[in-house]
Amino acid sequence: MQEYVTNAIVLDLEPNGDLDSRVSLFTKRFGKLVVKVKSAKKVTSKLSPHLQPGNLIQARLVEKNGLHIADALKEARISVPPSRLFSLNQLLAEAEPDPEVWRLISSGPFEWPPVLAALGWDPKTAECGSCGKRTPSFFHMRQQEFYCGRCALKLPKNEVISILA
Ligand SMILES: [Zn+2]
Repeated sequence: MQEYVTNAIVLDLEPNGDLDSRVSLFTKRFGKLVVKVKSAKKVTSKLSPHLQPGNLIQARLVEKNGLHIADALKEARISVPPSRLFSLNQLLAEAEPDPEVWRLISSGPFEWPPVLAALGWDPKTAECGSCGKRTPSFFHMRQQEFYCGRCALKLPKNEVISILA
């Protein structure tokens, strides 16, 4: 049984079966990890208040039939709206530590252009994936492609993020 302690930002917390939950963490040491939370839906759970999206926590992770979270302590809240954390959760690859992204997110204020640039999609050098216009203002998460405002209108709203706001 392996144990790890790391700082982490909670990106998402979702049910997994009747009693368990799954929490997406962006950890300082290991990058994004999706870990099991035992019985987090029980009212008695002491962990759930600490595992709300936007919390900066100290996490103790245990590797035993998969990774699960054994303990969590909220240390602070970061000033990033949950909707952006959910988008970030979709963009981050698992188990890839990224000190620059960690610094940008934990120190705030949160802005998409530097975060996307750190992840390898620099808006400054990008063009609209449909019409080729420079300085695109939207990013399609699944396609990993930039779009201008006009072309982004044709895309499903929940799949694109506005990078200027
Ligand atoms: Zn366009």
